[in-house]
Amino acid sequence: MKILLVYPKYPNTFWSFKHVLKFVSKKAAYPPLGLLTVAAILPGNWEKKLVDMNVDSLDDTDLKWADYVFISAMITQKDSAIEVINKCKQLNIKIVGGGPLFTTGYQEFEEVDHLILGEAESSLPIFLKDLQEGKPQKRYASDTWPNVSKTPVPLWSLINVKHYAAMLVQYSRGCPFDCEFCDIPILNGHKPRTKEIDQFIREFDVLYEHGWRGAVFVVDDNFIGNKNKVKKLLRELIIWMEKHKHPFSLLTESSLNLVDDEELMELMVMAGFRRVFVGIESPAEESLVECNKFQNRNRNMIAAIKKIQNFGMEVQGGFIVGFDNDPPSIFDRQIKFIQESGVVTAMVGLLNALPETKLYKRLKKECRLLANSSGNNTDISLNFIPKMDNELIIDGYKKILSTIYSHKKYYERIITFLQEYHPVRRGKPDFYDCMAFLKSIWFLGIVGKGKKYYWKLLLLSLFKYRRGLTEAITLAIYGLHFRRVLRDLDL
Ligand code: SF4
Repeated sequence: MKILLVYPKYPNTFWSFKHVLKFVSKKAAYPPLGLLTVAAILPGNWEKKLVDMNVDSLDDTDLKWADYVFISAMITQKDSAIEVINKCKQLNIKIVGGGPLFTTGYQEFEEVDHLILGEAESSLPIFLKDLQEGKPQKRYASDTWPNVSKTPVPLWSLINVKHYAAMLVQYSRGCPFDCEFCDIPILNGHKPRTKEIDQFIREFDVLYEHGWRGAVFVVDDNFIGNKNKVKKLLRELIIWMEKHKHPFSLLTESSLNLVDDEELMELMVMAGFRRVFVGIESPAEESLVECNKFQNRNRNMIAAIKKIQNFGMEVQGGFIVGFDNDPPSIFDRQIKFIQESGVVTAMVGLLNALPETKLYKRLKKECRLLANSSGNNTDISLNFIPKMDNELIIDGYKKILSTIYSHKKYYERIITFLQEYHPVRRGKPDFYDCMAFLKSIWFLGIVGKGKKYYWKLLLLSLFKYRRGLTEAITLAIYGLHFRRVLRDLDL
């Protein structure tokens, strides 16, 4: 059996980091971890090829070669996924669809021959058995969460890791919290399911053996969902990193209650975590109540962010506007919060109701739903009727983006961050870091707008905040990406 695994193109969003890839001579930000894991579950004697459309073009010859095309996609990749599906239909090639796009919206994909809903470890083996017995069904879903301690190591040999800016690994799935807008509790459940420590370390070994050095994103829904288990893992990771001379710099996603556990933060930093993405959502307490973000409530969130920065991790933040309880001042309050906290990589989005979430169900009941969400954090629209005037929200949202990503505010925020940031410096800058630095001088310091801010930052980093020099340059480069995304949006 010949299987072609296809990862559709994702649009140019804040998360694509498209405009910074040329700084590090890479083609895409992240590899398709889900498809690589699916490939490892398929029978070993089947022939497999993978086309990541963010790296290579998908040719008819690739499609014609295959007996089956497996497509995995997130909601944001919908347009490209539909193009691939149509192409397969024209060429009469059987399609298997999986991933969040198909799991939460399978009703829209009648033309897909086989739908593997939920986590592949549950339903894929049943499909494979039926396929081998010649009686594959249309749809496979499972109402149990698979045991990820049985998940195989992704088949990294199907891609060239050097095309990517960072590698992805996963330790756990699921999140104990229950934020109203989030689809993680539906997709992956509340109880964090973790891999075995040896199993996870093996994934590090395999990446290392494939020659990877650099950033590794631990793409857990909430890395600290089970703090006790995570601490045990981190102690082993520290040993592995020391033995291998710190080849990876790690980033992950975590809830803000990370700040309540100093031992955990210390272990993370020792293990090589340099960045953590945290869902901040809103400085308005009433909006946090509305979306059930109780882990952020009744605390000084700016102080919490600064504490994590003090420990040596950059905090990247997710922010949302459009809650029913957002006061009219929310736009200025978000800007003030983002500036004061020194969250440089601030991903601000308009609230959207993702399929099957609690928010979606509530809005449906209230007859306020308008359309399905695009899942794209730069989509300037709400898919429901908001309480505040729609135009007011859109204008306020645009104001936030154009303010926080303006040269002045953006560079000011980097300096605010550097004042708090005390990294544990390990590993030397590699070839790509040096190239990025040299290119930043050209693109940001010589030909770009806002040169004076760049040079001020560079001098301050060299003479006052030397410890944060690498991060300062990296963040300055990210700024270029964010401003170009805004330009593409006509903002
Ligand atoms: S903490 Fe994050 S992952 Fe967990 S439910 Fe809330 S938004 Fe989702």
